[in-house]
Amino acid sequence: MSFKASILTLYPDMFPGTLGQALAGKALKSGAWSLDVTQIRDFATDRHRSVDDTPAGGGAGMVLRPDILAKAIDHVSSTEDRRPRLLMSPRGTPLTQAMVRDLATGPGAVIVCGRFEGVDERVIEARQLTEVSIGDYVLSGGEIAAQVLLDAVVRLLPGVMGNAASGETESFEAALLEHPHYTRPTEWEGRTIPDVLTSGNHARIDAWRRERAEALTKARRPDLWQAQARKKPTADR
Ligand code: SAM
Repeated sequence: MSFKASILTLYPDMFPGTLGQALAGKALKSGAWSLDVTQIRDFATDRHRSVDDTPAGGGAGMVLRPDILAKAIDHVSSTEDRRPRLLMSPRGTPLTQAMVRDLATGPGAVIVCGRFEGVDERVIEARQLTEVSIGDYVLSGGEIAAQVLLDAVVRLLPGVMGNAASGETESFEAALLEHPHYTRPTEWEGRTIPDVLTSGNHARIDAWRRERAEALTKARRPDLWQAQARKKPTADR
């Protein structure tokens, strides 16, 4: 069975959005994954179809009501559904490649896109929503965050990436940022391709790429470099 994504949102027209294009879009059309999108507002009960209310205790903004969101979640995901239930949230666990890989090996995901000030805490607890953040900044809604997460997952699904090997050396897969890339023309604006890459010597090319990946990681992401140095005590700190 292919990866099944169910989105809950107040803006269903934002989907498939970027996920309908390029690699993810082709994979969607070919059935490598499926997407269903549910309008949370369809579960509202009053004549104004309202889904939010003022925050208990006062303060700015509005909060998504737990009863309405729970009904929407229960509609797309029964108790037998083994898919993780995610809530896109700046308070959440930061999205990593390891998390993406884990999701890509599973049956899919139910993804709630928040709006306003956020979601009533009780529905997070009662429906066991795992909060996931795509970075330390605040978006106006969870839809773009959900697309970021799904884009990263879908490219790892079986048969989606043309050259499967390309995934293995990518940034974060080996706890390193990826080495630089070059292509033709061999000389451009006076800049040439490093000789080693045109030498045909694959052992030297691999060593050069490894060395550049390590240097880039040390310079740009000392946190990643330290983390991998802790895993491998022999690595240069
Ligand atoms: N008041 C919230 C806070 O300070 O944590 C921010 C709410 S934000 C305006 C509205 C919605 O956008 C959130 O409920 C969430 O679904 C989504 N969102 C915003 N930033 C995000 C991020 N960095 N990662 C994932 N989702 C995010």
